Amino acid sequence: MNQVVIVTGGSRGIGAATSLLLAQQGYAVCVNYRANRASADKVVEAITQTGGRAFAMQADIAKEEDVIALFTATQQRFGPVTHLVNNAGILDKQSRLVEMSVARFRHVLDTNVIGCFLCCREALKQMPSGGAIVNVSSAASRSGAPFEYIDYAASKGAMDALTKGLSLEVAAQGIRVNAVRPGFIYTEMHADGGEPGRVDRLAPNIPLQRGGTPEEVANAIAWLLSDEASYVTGSFIDLAGGR
Ligand code: NAP
Repeated sequence: MNQVVIVTGGSRGIGAATSLLLAQQGYAVCVNYRANRASADKVVEAITQTGGRAFAMQADIAKEEDVIALFTATQQRFGPVTHLVNNAGILDKQSRLVEMSVARFRHVLDTNVIGCFLCCREALKQMPSGGAIVNVSSAASRSGAPFEYIDYAASKGAMDALTKGLSLEVAAQGIRVNAVRPGFIYTEMHADGGEPGRVDRLAPNIPLQRGGTPEEVANAIAWLLSDEASYVTGSFIDLAGGR
């Protein structure tokens, strides 16, 4: 079977590790990014140099026309999309809810929630004979992320509800929908929250006493996408060192 996957935000962090792993496993990979072309090109180069199939595609997942173009381009390049990793996500500076602007609420929810909904919708149109979707949620959907980013946590809570509902809606079509909920992973995202060293600060309070790596999250995503997880749908894997 020709396995074709789109990894949204596949250019950096967890998405990059996932793109590289899935390419090694034989998937043709669309490495999506929003702004940072150089990082996406680096991932694609690493894949093609080792004989894998990949291409980079700019698309802001918060924009409907961009998402439609992303799925059309991938289908034209590799054939129908059989797998999707909804990984692209953003957060803003750590602050209390009372200090947050409506522009911030909209930006976070448009990207993390509407973006995920749009990508699921377009993927389903290309999956008449089954497929698999993994949503990259967060431990924040369980903690609520008080004093840091409740807006982000709520967006991940919405992804969890989407995962559950959609998994039931499409199960009879042979499409599985699952989620991973990472926490405290070493990526550049924490700098966007204003604290690049956040994972090291929190490490002593994590039961496993350390932060996680993007590769550890990628392993769980790849398993959920694979036939090894063929009886798993509407499920969540927590990757937060025991928190
Ligand atoms: P990251 O290092 O900041 O990378 C984010 C990726 O998403 C980049 O490839 C970025 O593209 C892309 N992106 C951002 N906005 C986009 C948009 N509107 N359209 C398309 N692509 C977009 O983030 P990360 O830490 O790997 O996080 C990946 C996912 O894991 C996110 O959903 C995040 O919420 C979740 N997560 C992370 C952690 C953690 O501790 N790191 C914990 C829990 C959950 P550009 O390079 O072009 O900007």
